[in-house]
Order: sequence, then structure tokens, then C-alpha cells
Amino acid sequence: MRLLIVEDNALLADGLRCGLQLQGMTCDVAGSAAAANAHLASGSYDACVLDLGLPDGDGLALLQRWRTQGQCLPVLVLTARDTLDDKLSGFDCGADDYLTKPFDLQELAARLHALHRRSAGRASDWLQWHDGALRLNLAHCQAWYQGQPVELARREWALLTALVQANGRVLSTEQLHDQLYGFAQEVGSNTINVHVHHLRKKLGADLIETVRGLGFRLGASYCRSAQP
Ligand code: CA
Repeated sequence: MRLLIVEDNALLADGLRCGLQLQGMTCDVAGSAAAANAHLASGSYDACVLDLGLPDGDGLALLQRWRTQGQCLPVLVLTARDTLDDKLSGFDCGADDYLTKPFDLQELAARLHALHRRSAGRASDWLQWHDGALRLNLAHCQAWYQGQPVELARREWALLTALVQANGRVLSTEQLHDQLYGFAQEVGSNTINVHVHHLRKKLGADLIETVRGLGFRLGASYCRSAQP
């Protein structure tokens, strides 16, 4: 799950990024409305956490503009404005959820998972591939392979969930890179291949197919090898 955090308080933004990364999310931070627009123009996100008091404008006006432009990204407003009128204004302007500061990080993560689940049209936090040979719980960042829990590193988890959610479609190396690292980090060109290699070692050699010149997808033949 790739998240855009719009927050001008650098300390809070960093805390959010670190805390939510531990929940399996890949986070980009924008410290202003202008930076948020730039991120949205050049990347695709699964959800947004939006502060309202931004240095170059009000977050609600920004949200309203996004909705007018047809931007349907799920947005959770995270703010100190805590009156009923504030909350109703937030929803009026297009917020999908509203949480007031101070907040609990676990609750924020749970709300973001729920937003993502609803926007993806899923009824539960569970994903599976090939009749449950591979099962993922998105809310708890846990994977099971043939009924056994599997330990995955954070990047492996992000890569695997992106591929399972693509449901057999090919994802390019660039798309996977954005899901794993966001914009902020410069990483080596071979990094995705390394994570794919580790996932194959843990979950079966034919779990992930390399589609030459295009990218990666979950393997159609995985079903056969994954059955006991
Ligand atoms: Ca602020």
C-alpha cells in the first residue's frame, strides 16, 4: 500500500512515515499543498493522510480542488480541528475519514487499511492466490504459504502484496519500485530482482514469473507446485 502523507510538521511527518512503514506501507511525505500536487501528478497512491494547516494553503481547499478535478484518491484528514462542524466540513469537502490529533498510530493504520480495502472493493483484509496456497492478511502484514506462516522482510511484503493485488497482471519494475520505495529513495537498478529472488526462495520458484522486457507477475503455474 502506497501512501501520501501531507504534513508540514517535519517531526510528525517523519514519525508517521516510520510508524506506518512498520505497518507495511510505503510512504511519501509532502510538506505543502504544492508538494502534494506534485506528488499526485507524478505517482499513484492507494490513500492519503491530509493535514489541514499547510504553509501554502488550507488542506480542505486542496481536498475540494482534488474532488472537483475528479481525483478520487481515498483521503483521511488528520488534524487538531476537533469540533463537529470541523468534521462535517471535512466530509463535505470530500474526506473519506477524519481523525483528530492526538491520535493513536494503530488506529490510524487500521483506518487506512479499511479505506484501502473499501476503495479496492474487497470485503476483508485477506488476499489469496490459487485457492489459498498463498494467503495474506493485509491488516496484520502476515503471510501463509501452504498453511504455514512465512517471515517476510518489509520490502518483500510490499512486493508480494503489490503482485497479489495485481491479480496476475504484469507490474513493471518501475511500478514495483514505486510501491516499495516511493520517490524519496535512490536504490540500485537490481533491487527488485533481489527481492524477487528472496521471495522465490521462501515461497516457491514459480511464484513470480519474469515477463521479459515488461516486468513481473504472479505465476499461472504456481497452483500445481503449491499443492501438497
Ligand atoms: Ca500543519
